[in-house]
Amino acid sequence: MTDQVKNQRSVERIIQGQAVMDGAGVKINRVLTQTLQRRLDPFLMLDNFGSDQANDYIAGFPSHPHRGFETVTYMLEGRMRHKDSSGNEGLLTNGGVQWMTAGRGVIHSEMPEQEDGVMEGFQLWLNLPAKDKMRAPWYRDFNGDEVPAFSTADGVKVKVIAGSSHGVAGAVQREVTEPIYIDVDLPAGATFSQSLPEGHNAFIFTYRGAVEVGDKAVGTGRMAILANTAGADGVTIRATEASRLILIAGQPLNEPIAQYGPFVMNTQAEIFAAVEDFRAGKLGEEAQA
Ligand code: MN
Repeated sequence: MTDQVKNQRSVERIIQGQAVMDGAGVKINRVLTQTLQRRLDPFLMLDNFGSDQANDYIAGFPSHPHRGFETVTYMLEGRMRHKDSSGNEGLLTNGGVQWMTAGRGVIHSEMPEQEDGVMEGFQLWLNLPAKDKMRAPWYRDFNGDEVPAFSTADGVKVKVIAGSSHGVAGAVQREVTEPIYIDVDLPAGATFSQSLPEGHNAFIFTYRGAVEVGDKAVGTGRMAILANTAGADGVTIRATEASRLILIAGQPLNEPIAQYGPFVMNTQAEIFAAVEDFRAGKLGEEAQA
């Protein structure tokens, strides 16, 4: 089963990420910034970290809280160990994915477990609908070989982290936001099409090489927001050279977004409660059972 796209979406806008520091001093390319949260609802943030200089990443992300959304960490290369307040611990390695639902509260650390070499990957923040923001926390690690994958006749290699592509169901499925998250590796000259529900907000981020969507070039380190064209049924991507990219899409929640750092709720009162719960040591406590 292949994804047949008859009316493809065009590129609405090309975005260059912002260099930021986060955690204890990790250099990050923030691809999806706070100003794009409305446009790319239900996605709140996308960070691309990548360096062969240990000083850029070694300090990692020591103990910090989250409430109200999900984090999806996709490790291209390197090793990252996470530990949380429920006693869970896991090691993310090449091609591995950690899907973490913070729900009502998680306190965790995300620390590189290597002293040299390349560390590269992505962290996506996916919002939770209001009704699920205070649900119990959940997480799962997938080794690289546990992420469903397939190749097309064109030699395009696809890993399906969430949703589905060409009939292949991804590692994680979510109701309400129905996210699609795929990693696409294209040989030079190859074409790849992905079906996308008309209402989904969608974007691609090219992290190797250069591709075209319609007549728009999307080079290395660039994000292309795909237009929500009425009647469009997907996107077709052509690699002008050997390329790798991620394609992410989701059903918008259309709910108010109130963010204070690692807490994303619907109202300021809920943010205040999150800060109070964190200060009182209540955040993450319930999950320790
Ligand atoms: Mn975190």
